[in-house]
Amino acid sequence: MRIVNVKIPTLSQQLYYDVTIEHGKITEMHSYEKKKVGDRSFSFLLSDHEQDDLVTWDADGRILLPGMVDAHMHLDKSHSLVVAKNQSGTLLEAIQSYTKASETFTDENVLDRMRKTALAALAHGTTTIRTHIDFNTRVNEETTFRGVRMALQLKKELAPIMEIQVFPMLPYYPYDDCDRKKIEEMLTFGVDGVGGAPHLSELPIECIDEIFSYAKKYNLPIDLHTDESDDPTVDTVLYIAEKTIEASYQGKVVVDHLCSLAAMDEEKVNTVIAIMKEAELGAITLPAANLYLQGREDRGVVRRGITRVKELLEANVPIAIASDNVCDPFHPFGRGDLLQIAQLTGYTAHMGGKADLYSLLKMITEVPAQLVGKEPKAFVVGAEVEFVLFDAKTIESLLAELTQTRAVYRRGRWVAMTKKTSEVSLHPTIIM
Ligand SMILES: [Zn+2]
Repeated sequence: MRIVNVKIPTLSQQLYYDVTIEHGKITEMHSYEKKKVGDRSFSFLLSDHEQDDLVTWDADGRILLPGMVDAHMHLDKSHSLVVAKNQSGTLLEAIQSYTKASETFTDENVLDRMRKTALAALAHGTTTIRTHIDFNTRVNEETTFRGVRMALQLKKELAPIMEIQVFPMLPYYPYDDCDRKKIEEMLTFGVDGVGGAPHLSELPIECIDEIFSYAKKYNLPIDLHTDESDDPTVDTVLYIAEKTIEASYQGKVVVDHLCSLAAMDEEKVNTVIAIMKEAELGAITLPAANLYLQGREDRGVVRRGITRVKELLEANVPIAIASDNVCDPFHPFGRGDLLQIAQLTGYTAHMGGKADLYSLLKMITEVPAQLVGKEPKAFVVGAEVEFVLFDAKTIESLLAELTQTRAVYRRGRWVAMTKKTSEVSLHPTIIM
């Protein structure tokens, strides 16, 4: 298959590209300044792509991005809002409500909700998901293991069309022998890494030590919910960084949320960012859930709980954007569209200039690819390629309109194609 006249903003801001793909790999790629002539105008209808090998598609300057990487989701919780309410809107009630509801779930119910969210993300152009999965050892035994079992089943089922990484969240209460036995058993199932939320623990240092010891024993990367609090004295990130260096785990630890970093004074922020750099921690901002959950106690000026995105970018700490929760008690909205979350990051981190827009696009593609252990540069001759083509010709319109018309390609074939046929007309007829 050959596509000409695509724009790849993660590579160049001005050039057009001509990309030839055989058996899922790029065999030729050229850049040029003026559009050239293609065979057929690119179609967003799957039925038109049967003869792909023979056609040179003309993308007419549309935008191509590497398959998006949503590095922090909760597939097990998604679409559980109907059974797990959250009246106060706080993190605490969300956790309590979800834990109670989880004991009523069935394998089928969990798998169906996870599949629905994963496929919605794929249709929007996300080809890799890292999902955190609850692992609560103090509910009935079936519930304890259900999320991880179902996530691994889904990972296998969807492997032909997308990549799913499963990160169980180790509990944040102090473990007894019974908890440890269940954790050890679960870690033999073939999970991709270890997660947790040590800032919620009464003994966060001990909790972090436990997480690192399991990760090292099973040689797994670590991805932690970190300091999801408005309180500037909550700073477990400092010990996570220290521990990362001590364990020689640099480049294998990601810290997510970092809400308290926004509330700290500048001096402390500089200290935290410096040690994050030294420990080579990756960072993830999750604006949708944090705008919803944080600042619940505030009156008047309400804190937003969004981490220091610009400061982390300036310090060259790799920071990605991710969705977090979708339609559950932690965050009641969302559709699994990472581009929408990038737009939200534009609002929350005050990033709207041209250079900012390019940064936002890298934060949903190359940066999270690096954080989840994938090759960050997607468009290289000889490389297996996965991408999403958008029906948008400028990055400004892409991020303003969030077009739903998208085509997603992976491992040598189109895996999702959406053509929105009922777009609200941008040129309405005005009747005077
Ligand atoms: Zn989360």
